[in-house]
Amino acid sequence: MNRKMTDPFLPPTRLLLGPGPSPVAPEVLAAMANPTIGHLDPAFIHLMDELKAMLQIAFNTKNDATFTVAGPGSVGMDACVLNMVEPGDKILIARNGVFGMRMSEVASRGGAVVVPLDFEWGTPVDAAAVDAALAQNKDVKFVAFVHSETSTGVLSDGKAIAAAAQKHGAMTIMDAVTSLGGVPVMVDEWGIDAVYSGTQKCLSCPPGLSPVSFSLRAIEHIKNRKTKVLSWFLDVTQVMAYWTGAGARAYHHTAPINALYGLHEALRRLLVEGLDNSFVRHRKAHLHLVAGLAKLGIDFLVDEKYRLPQLNAVKIPAGVNDPLVRSTLLNEFNIEIGAGLGPLAGKVWRIGLMGEGARIEHVDALLSALEKAMRARAA
Ligand SMILES: *Cc1c(COP(=O)(O)O)cnc(C)c1O
Repeated sequence: MNRKMTDPFLPPTRLLLGPGPSPVAPEVLAAMANPTIGHLDPAFIHLMDELKAMLQIAFNTKNDATFTVAGPGSVGMDACVLNMVEPGDKILIARNGVFGMRMSEVASRGGAVVVPLDFEWGTPVDAAAVDAALAQNKDVKFVAFVHSETSTGVLSDGKAIAAAAQKHGAMTIMDAVTSLGGVPVMVDEWGIDAVYSGTQKCLSCPPGLSPVSFSLRAIEHIKNRKTKVLSWFLDVTQVMAYWTGAGARAYHHTAPINALYGLHEALRRLLVEGLDNSFVRHRKAHLHLVAGLAKLGIDFLVDEKYRLPQLNAVKIPAGVNDPLVRSTLLNEFNIEIGAGLGPLAGKVWRIGLMGEGARIEHVDALLSALEKAMRARAA
């Protein structure tokens, strides 16, 4: 490569069909290129109010405490878990993939006592098993689970899991990072107490923001904590004063102004399309992929009933060189797909059809490139 460090960086043009980031619409990138204004400028405060209202629609919630924290999805995980748990609290964590494991790590760093409930990777969280585990552990205060497990391509039943938690008086923490915009997320109807998402999955924004929402009960709980929240930056009662305070907003941190311009444009586009239309578009792209992969003799890891339309974990056919096919896709066809994680490394590919990626023409481009990449191997 004939470039100097001081040359401007121009990224290659890729079609992002992996587990995130997803393709970003030019309109979102253009919005982010608008001039930066002050984070307490009345015009910016107005933008934050609109963002909050649009996030409430996307999350299907009336929660006043609905905003973004500055950082990717993992920061939302930290924010939800560390605001809810205090040292010594028992939290049941349903784990069926990488992100449930990560939640356990966050909770235990927060001093919580983790009661793990493990499911085979590639299968959903079973609400009946959550119910049974809570019957055995009467002092569990929280139930945490991943709605859309991006590491395995599995959708769990958020409503049933939350109902099991409520039956035993436990509060719920839900990871909706890959869900938001791709499948319904019904925060109020299901009774979720703390939920977080990310921008670079089905919202089709660059990474770096995490939408979160807390129920009234969760905010009351956080206000009555005996100990301070471990993280100063993520202390929700402080962040709220900046995002939702009536009248004068208090300085807490400098918001990532231009990133929020981008999220505003992405949410605006989602709401103009309509949430339901977006879900249907994800489903159609998924079914198109299922049909195309069947012709190539490629099977899915997950049972049809639990498949996540926006993240397709598919079995790598025997004899196929996994890293070579992925690097051929990237280098010769400019298409990114994801590798398997943990026990699924080398066994599956993860094909993301998230946000702007969930379009028939992108699926067709991938199918044709994948066929060639696998044939190049066989030759
Ligand atoms: C991507 C993802 C995360 C982490 O988000 P980052 O933006 O990578 O920090 C958490 N949970 C799930 C289910 C994810 O897919």
